[in-house]
Formats: sequence, C-alpha cells, structure tokens
Amino acid sequence: MTVYLVGAGPGDPGLLTRRGAELLARAEVVLFDRLVDPRLLELAPGGALRIDVGKTPGQPRHQDDVNALILEHARQGRTVVRLKGGDPFVFGRGGEEAEALMRAGVPFEVVPGVTSAFAAPASAGVPVTHRGLSSSVTVVSGHVGDPGVPGAVDWASLARAGGTLVVLMGMANRAEIARRLVDAGRPPDTPVVVVHRGTSSTQASVRTTLAGLAQVDLGPPCTIVIGPVAALDLRSSGRGPLTGTRVVVTRARAQASELVARLRDAGAEVIELPVIAIDDPRDGGSALRAEAARADTYDWIVFTSPNAAERFLSLLRDARELGAARLAAVGAATARSLAAHRVVADLVPDEETGDGLVSAMPGAPTGGSRTGRVLFPRAEEVRDVVAPGLRRKGWEVTEVEAYRTVSVRGSRSVGVDELDAVSSADVITFTSPSTVRYFAELAGHLRPPPVVACIGPVTADAARRAGFRVDVVAAEHSAEGLVSALGAHLADSSPHSAPGGVAPGDGVPPT
Ligand code: SAH
Repeated sequence: MTVYLVGAGPGDPGLLTRRGAELLARAEVVLFDRLVDPRLLELAPGGALRIDVGKTPGQPRHQDDVNALILEHARQGRTVVRLKGGDPFVFGRGGEEAEALMRAGVPFEVVPGVTSAFAAPASAGVPVTHRGLSSSVTVVSGHVGDPGVPGAVDWASLARAGGTLVVLMGMANRAEIARRLVDAGRPPDTPVVVVHRGTSSTQASVRTTLAGLAQVDLGPPCTIVIGPVAALDLRSSGRGPLTGTRVVVTRARAQASELVARLRDAGAEVIELPVIAIDDPRDGGSALRAEAARADTYDWIVFTSPNAAERFLSLLRDARELGAARLAAVGAATARSLAAHRVVADLVPDEETGDGLVSAMPGAPTGGSRTGRVLFPRAEEVRDVVAPGLRRKGWEVTEVEAYRTVSVRGSRSVGVDELDAVSSADVITFTSPSTVRYFAELAGHLRPPPVVACIGPVTADAARRAGFRVDVVAAEHSAEGLVSALGAHLADSSPHSAPGGVAPGDGVPPT
C-alpha cells in the first residue's frame, strides 16, 4: 500500500513523466482531478478503479473528503495513484494530501509534474525568464481570500519587485490584479498574455496589456503572464509549412495519431475533435472470425482500409493460415497495416481509390472447374464500388463486416470550448465520408474553418454534398499526402500573408 501523488502535467498527455506513466500502469485506484486528460486514465489497467475527485462548479468536494478517500483505499492495501494537474506541489493542495498521509503513517511518494505555470506560457511562445528582459519569475495565486479582494498577496510589492509574474487561478480577479499592479507603478502598457488550456488540443491565448487584461474573456483554466517577456512569441521559428496554422482533426482518436504527429511536425497547432469512433461490427466479429478461419479458400482478400486490414490480420494466429490467398490493399496506408503483420500486399493500385482497386485487379480465371473467390472484409457501411466492380470482373465476392464507424455523439458530449476552438481554427481535415457526415451532425451549425482539406476524392465529394467548399484534396490518400497537400495549398494561397499565416478563405459565404 503506497500512495503516489503524481503530477499529470499541464494538459498534453505527452507531458506526463515516465515515472508517472509507470505508476499509472500498475495502479489499482486512480483518483484524478477534473482537468486531467482522459487519455492519461487509459494508461491505468482496465480493471483499475477510476474516481473523479475534481471540484465541479456547484458541488464542491471538501479537501478532507479527498484525503479520506485516499486513505480509505490505501488502507485496503491498494496501489493508489492520486493524479493531479500540473505539479502536485504547485497550488494543487498536494502538500495537504502529503501531510494527511504522513499523519496517518501511510507511505507515499511524490512524482513531480510539468507545471502549467511554466508550460502554459511556453506553449504560447513565452519564456518566463529571458536574458535582458526578465531575470526572475514569481508564481502567484490570484485566488486568495475573498473573490474580488485578492487578499494575502501583496500585489504592490510584487509590482515593485519587477520580473515576470505568472498568475494562476487569477481570472476572476483579473481586473483587480491589473489595477493594483498599475497603482503600484507597473506601466499600463506592460505586456500580458493569457493562456487557456495551455499545451492541450483546445489551447487558446490572448495577448494584451495590463490596461486590457480586464477585457480578456477566456474561461478557466487560464494562466496569466505579466511582464516584458509576454511580448515574445517564440513558437514559430520556421518549424514547417504549417507553422502557426490551427488545424482540426476529425478522425477517430485511435487512428488520428499519425495525422496529428505529421501536422505537428509541420508546425501546425492541432485541435482534435474526433467525431467518429471505430467499433466492433454488430455481430461482435463472429462472421469475420469465421472467414478468417477459411482465409486459405479465397484467391484474393481485398482491403480498402487500415482498420479492416488490422482487424482481419489480428485474427490470424499464423500468417500461413492465409494459404495461397493473395492480398490487395487500396493504398499505401492499408498496405502498411498489412506489413505491420509481416504480410506484403500483392497489389496496390496507382490510383488509391475503390475504383482504382477494381481496375487494377485481374479478371477472375475462366474455364476452370470453380469460380474465382474474393473475400472483402469491410466497414459496415461502404460505397458500393468494390464488390460490384469485382463481380463484373467475374469474381464471386464474399463481403464480411470487419468494423463499424460510429458517431461519438452517443458516447460523449462536445463542449462549448471544443466548438469554439473549431470555429476559430484555420483548417478542418476530413479523412473519410463518415467524418464529414458526423461532423455535420455534431457541429453543422458552426461556420467551418476557412480551409477544408480532404484526404481523397471520395471524401471531397461527400464534403461538397454536405455543403462545404473543398480547398484541398490530397493526391496521395494518406496522412502524409494530406499534410503535404495542405502545405502546398497554404503556400500558394497566402503569398502576401505573414509566414505560416492563412489567407482568408475566398468564396466562403459570410455568416
Ligand atoms: N498544480 C497545477 C496548478 C493547480 S491550480 C500546476 O502545477 O499546473 C489550477 C490553476 O492552474 C488554474 O486555475 C490555472 O490558472 C492553471 N492551469 C492549470 N492547467 C492549465 C493549463 N493547461 N493552461 C493554463 N493554465 C492552467
């Protein structure tokens, strides 16, 4: 029975420490704060108890209750991870939890985290100290004492001390804080940056001055940085063709990682709004298992998505169960999913579409004693292109459902923050007709970002039918192809704008 007080980092799940990840992986109980990214909770074993001890506005949970809960689970001999936003010992009341554990004689370990006090400014391109501008930084709570009366903090001395001020929990009192600093001699034009949900996919920031701070309208959580360093923006030092561009990714979270990584590598700020999720077929996969068991009775097995390839091949115990069946993949990404299982596609068409696949496939053998047989593991809903096309070529085609694309609407609600982030983005990407459809259902009333980028012509058609004006269609239908097509489009369309900036979409109907 040990309790681990683990810092979850500021928002981006990639900023959890390795020690934190290791402990989560063997946690039996995870008690987490409201701001902790759900992807971190996925690191805990499936059977672990996950308890939200966050303070939801309106139903405050007393710190004593949290302490009692930690102790209760620890005393039952469980491995308890208390996962706290940022660093547990920076304004997180982690100190109080540690005191309670010490008093109770329960062994514990503190695992530091990346604090939002420094990471949120950095994510907006602001270093909290900078040679020549600021040689000290003070992290201060703006939420001391009565709201409206930033009590115990001596703002006048902080103002006189100079250096950078990083204010956490300061939004409610921002007007008062600015007033006190100015009264004590900080110039009203002192640069200020307010960072909302720094390092997360819904990050937003506003640059202003002490005089303008009261007008900044961003919801919690925000970090306020005050001082000359707040005028710096060290994000966009030519990192790539998409630097400074905010791009929405609608693909299912489980599949988005390559696209997200490539966009980030190209310098984009990624806003993840997964509108679909991949689920088992309605029969739970029994038909697919049955077909996988007789894979060697087919001449060809045809895949039109990495999902189908992955789900089918993971049912094989041994690649030799494929017998002499040959494999066709619609494109490079699907071929890569096959290759991940150590089987190489026999056919990948040059034109990476269903039609391209049908034309590239040979005709069924004629004159033999039996008809040629093709197995087509596919999504529940597909365009009727591949199976009819292959039948026209003489093949007997067996279609089997390998997976199903479902709207995330049933399983999670999309917050106002997320929708705000989407409407302020520069680009939205669609990677399948279902992402178009479910985005339209989820957020159809929003004005779409000025640039709409699609992974291929089929998705682009779906987008046009849904009323979007499509600006980019990738020539190579993959994450890489989409990112490079987008880069090329932005380079062409914004010759006069700032580096990495996005030209306003021409022809977008005003709203
Ligand atoms: N222990 C945490 C701070 C807890 S106090 C840490 O080290 O980061 C909670 C305050 O932290 C919020 O009110 C806000 O001011 C700040 N904060 C937390 N996460 C943030 C984020 N992602 N972006 C900006 N500020 C954040």
